[in-house]
Amino acid sequence: MGSINGSTQIVGLIGWPVSHSFSPLLQNTAFEACEINFAYIPLPVAPGCLAQAVEGLKGLQFAGANVTIPHKVDIIPLLDEIDPAAKKIGAVNTIVVRDGQLYGYNTDAPGFMSSLAQNQVVIEGKKAMMLGAGGAARAVICGLLDGQSEEIFLAARNMEQAKALAVRYAGEGKLTPIELGCEEFERKSAECALIVNCTPLGMQPWLEQMPPLDFAVLARDTVIYDLIYNPTHTMLLIKAAECGFKTIGGMEMLIEQGALAFEKWTSVTAPRDVMYKTMSKICC
Ligand code: NAP
Repeated sequence: MGSINGSTQIVGLIGWPVSHSFSPLLQNTAFEACEINFAYIPLPVAPGCLAQAVEGLKGLQFAGANVTIPHKVDIIPLLDEIDPAAKKIGAVNTIVVRDGQLYGYNTDAPGFMSSLAQNQVVIEGKKAMMLGAGGAARAVICGLLDGQSEEIFLAARNMEQAKALAVRYAGEGKLTPIELGCEEFERKSAECALIVNCTPLGMQPWLEQMPPLDFAVLARDTVIYDLIYNPTHTMLLIKAAECGFKTIGGMEMLIEQGALAFEKWTSVTAPRDVMYKTMSKICC
């Protein structure tokens, strides 16, 4: 981080816990590369303290913040205005403080779509499958709906969760809930151009695990995307690459959502090359 002085503008990461986060490194490197007098700090906010913390953003004249687990949903009623896309997703991951008002955005969905574009993956008119139906899946679904995906299969072990998401976004596109691992799941996976792991299977400390995907039935040009970014090479991505599939890891979405947040706070184009280089150094 460059030197902090009396004019430094502060942004931070509201979450619990936050000590493991890559965002301070990502954002501070980007501020430094652009010679912008901003600093990004971790803001551990325990459940129950969120309202106080949010008031503090105004009182302390923060420029903005990121929001992570477990506050992305609960923060919504505490903000002054919510961007329509964030409303649709039902979660805020970026706050901008403007004239003492708090504006909530979600950069996860456009971050996911940017990472697809960077990898020349076109989803328009194609089928996709989500594995898992939790919070991150919502942002991915909204991104794919915006990208005009023909049909999105929501594969979850808990069918009620998948059905609830299908109902939530009914009318926005074709969403089909399906039980993870069943016969129909296998048949439908063969129709998909993109399969996205939105479960924690394969992340620390479940490194040996992966979702129940049969690579033998997939089309050769299916893209396998894992939202997990730690580790960068999950078991799913390793096996998929061994079978010859194109793969994308979660670090790209992490960087892209960060780049979009950076641009909202600073109105400066994010130094994506620097951000990718920084994160590649810590990739495991
Ligand atoms: P979440 O809200 O807890 O949702 C997780 C989903 O996975 C739920 O549907 C859950 O079902 C399912 N699941 C959990 N364990 C499972 C298992 N053993 N078998 C089958 N399904 C299982 O979590 P999230 O916030 O969506 O995060 C999901 C993953 O995405 C995490 O690894 C997170 O790190 C990653 N992520 C990455 C980015 C990025 O920028 N790259 C952004 C956000 C999240 P149940 O409800 O039945 O447990």
